[in-house]
Amino acid sequence: MFVVFIGPPGAGKGTQAQRLVELLNVPHVSTGDMLRQAISQGTDLGKQAQNYMQAGKLVPDELVLEIINECLDDPRLQNGCLFDGFPRNVEQAEALDQLLANRNTPLNMVLELQVETQELVRRMLARKRPDDTSETISERLIVYKNQTAPVLQYYAERNLLTAIDGTGTPDEVFARIRAATGR
Ligand code: ADP
Repeated sequence: MFVVFIGPPGAGKGTQAQRLVELLNVPHVSTGDMLRQAISQGTDLGKQAQNYMQAGKLVPDELVLEIINECLDDPRLQNGCLFDGFPRNVEQAEALDQLLANRNTPLNMVLELQVETQELVRRMLARKRPDDTSETISERLIVYKNQTAPVLQYYAERNLLTAIDGTGTPDEVFARIRAATGR
């Protein structure tokens, strides 16, 4: 099962993604985690991505698609995975459709975690990640609204989208996610 998990920064997507991959028993493909790893390892890709991430901007599609393409070649992803933090714009969504169509394994489901903006800012200021300064937080929220929200529309038109209320305790949110997956 190939599932896309989308949500604004600070929505608690990371926590829920951990649980969701266990429930679905598929590998977790987080572009944010892979990019942070590339930066800490000092690879070429990491060096190219670093400035964009620090500014709260999207890393260029070319770099992200290179990661995803390589990932999909892994035999462990043959039967599915959870895409987390990807696709982030319509171009990436179209590219993913193409990559999965080539493999005859189209997307099964897109889950959107919904949390209101005020709560997102509160949650992000409470955690301690290097790209969680008040400037990058507002930039990332703007990027989400301008670039990632159209991805939701894209999937809604294809009847793949299910919205999940992301407020409440992690257990409450996960119960909703689980119900949406039918597991
Ligand atoms: P969050 O959802 O909390 O912003 P992520 O870990 O998903 O956290 O992403 C952190 C940063 O990594 C983003 O602000 C962006 O710079 C970069 N990034 C992650 N995934 C992508 C992607 N699919 N396309 C472009 N940039 C990405």
